[in-house]
Amino acid sequence: MGISEAILEGGHWAAKLITANKELAFQSDEREKLLAELITVNKELVFQGKEKCKRAAELIIANKELAFECKEKGKRAAELIIANKELAFQCKEKEDRAAEFITERQRRLFEEKMARLDRLNLVGQMAAGIGHEIRNPMTTVRGYLQLLGAKHEYAVRKPTFDLMISELDRANAIITEFLSLAQTKRTEQRSQDLNDLLGKLYPLIEADTFTQNKQISFIPGEIPNLELNGNEITQLLLNLTRNGLEAMEERGRLQIKSYVDNGKVVLAIADEGCGIAAENLRKLGTPFFTTKDSGTGLGLATCYKIVESHNAKIDIDSSTRGTTFFISFPIPVASSKIVDILSQKAIHPISGS
Ligand code: ADP
Ligand code: MG
Repeated sequence: MGISEAILEGGHWAAKLITANKELAFQSDEREKLLAELITVNKELVFQGKEKCKRAAELIIANKELAFECKEKGKRAAELIIANKELAFQCKEKEDRAAEFITERQRRLFEEKMARLDRLNLVGQMAAGIGHEIRNPMTTVRGYLQLLGAKHEYAVRKPTFDLMISELDRANAIITEFLSLAQTKRTEQRSQDLNDLLGKLYPLIEADTFTQNKQISFIPGEIPNLELNGNEITQLLLNLTRNGLEAMEERGRLQIKSYVDNGKVVLAIADEGCGIAAENLRKLGTPFFTTKDSGTGLGLATCYKIVESHNAKIDIDSSTRGTTFFISFPIPVASSKIVDILSQKAIHPISGS
């Protein structure tokens, strides 16, 4: 090859090298640009990573906080459960105590009732045994007193004879009352209106009340017929009203009421008297228990017996302002149906009939 050819060849190579160089420089530039971009992206990623870490840390803290709260709530819940259990236990204890109390009370009431029945039984047997034996000679003595008192020679002693006769009558009345306590056979009862019996007796009690300068009222309620023994109920009413009147000062008011309450017919006799001392309440109904100078202590004993033979119940409410005797009679099945119908009518009145 000649020199010119060699120069040409050299120039050609030089141009190629320059081009290659430029290419390389361009590529280098591009790489640098890419690198810079990569660095920026990387920085961004690092930043994002950092943010995520921060968020994660925050989440961890929040999580821990939540876990703590949950723990606290769990603790509180456990405490509540324990308190709840404690309360349930205390309730149970109280319930048990109440049940015991009720059983104890029932037992005491039952014992008191049995004791009263025992006393009544004993008195009854005694009365039945000696009542007639005493009455017969008394009748003879009374007859002779009447006979002698009517004679001329004893005319000056007439008041003494009369007094002896009235004392014998009083003794006889006590024995009669006593004998009624002894009666064990079931007395005859028939369906009748308690208000009718009260109505018949009322003028008598009213007259008694007015002579003592006291007041009386009778409020008959709507009540069904009851299975009653008329004589016994009359006796019951007389005994209770007499006691009420005897307990009151002048101008005191006696109130007699009849009404239906809680499926029972109630006869309530309320006075404005002195009341019954708590220690005496338990003794009521015991034969011969009296706080009166001339009392027999047989009135309430008879009442308890009559009430029992009618399957009824006596409740007493007494204070220093007065005493109320509540006698609750069971309503016979046939009458209770009528009460049901009446009460339904009261709720849904049937018009036009
Ligand atoms: P008596 O009337 O003969 O004393 P009771 O058996 O009728 O006998 O009564 C017994 C006792 O009960 C009375 O002595 C009295 O102490 C008391 N009592 C009964 N009813 C009443 C009343 N309504 N108010 C106050 N005390 C009463
Ligand atoms: Mg009496």
